[in-house]
Formats: sequence, C-alpha cells, structure tokens
Amino acid sequence: MMKKVTTKARKNRICDRALLKKIRAYPDPVLRSTCKKVKDVLGEETMAIVDLMTKVLTATKNGVGIAANQLGFTKRIIALRPARHNVIVMINPKITWKSKETYGQFESCLSYPGRRGKVDRPMAIVVEYIDREGVKNVMEGTFWIARIIQHEVDHLNGKCKLQ
Ligand SMILES: [Zn+2]
Repeated sequence: MMKKVTTKARKNRICDRALLKKIRAYPDPVLRSTCKKVKDVLGEETMAIVDLMTKVLTATKNGVGIAANQLGFTKRIIALRPARHNVIVMINPKITWKSKETYGQFESCLSYPGRRGKVDRPMAIVVEYIDREGVKNVMEGTFWIARIIQHEVDHLNGKCKLQ
C-alpha cells in the first residue's frame, strides 16, 4: 500500500513539472500582447484553456493567479486561487470600479521567477466576468483578491508592474 502511494506521488510530481514548464517567462513576447475577448465562452477551445489554466495554477506551489497569455493563449481569461484547492475562473473580466484608496504590497509573478516588487493598487474593485459555466457574475473584491485580479488583468493588457 505504501509503495502504491509513493509511486502515485512521484507520478504527480512529474506531471506537475510538465505543467509548470508551460508557463511563459519574460521576455516572451506573448506576455506583451493584448488579449482578445472570448466570444465562444462555452466552446471547446475555451474550455481546454480554462482546464489547463486550472491545472497549471494548482500545480504551482504558491501561485495565486494566472492569465491565459502566461500559457501562450491571447484570450481574456484569468484564474485565481484564493485557497489551495479553490480556483475561480473569470472569462472576459472587466474591472468596472476601483476605490480611490490605494495601498502598497509586495507582489510576485509566475512569469518572473524570483522577482518581487512593492506595487500600489486600489484597495477594492468591482469586476464583471463570465464564469466557467457561462454565467455572468459581478464580484466585489477587496485587499488580496482585488490585488490578484488587478495583477492578472494587467497581464491581459500586455503589462506587468514588476517589469
Ligand atoms: Zn503575473
């Protein structure tokens, strides 16, 4: 029984490594491209991208968010991981409101391994998006969640504040 568990764990690690290799790092030009709005929200291609993003994000040790172009797809899709096994997918996210109050905190980026930088951002936001079931949602995010969403939406616009 022990042996089986060990083999499975090793296979998972190998699988994780293969997934992590898919993350594009700077200066890959795809990270500077402006991503396009997803039209076919429930289409096969979109679902495949959403699935891969979820898998890759879950495979990272401490990753809390990823944008589609970080995996080479120039589509407006982001994924957040507010808790270890909880991934929220946002298709065509649009920040419709930002608070005037800002605060600074250190951020890191999966496409900038080892880099950290203090970034000032609005404390709260409202974001409209379509979820993986194709349902329109509105979410108010504060502090950490607001920060992750803003960081990932920057990626969709070809930007990263850590650059
Ligand atoms: Zn990033």
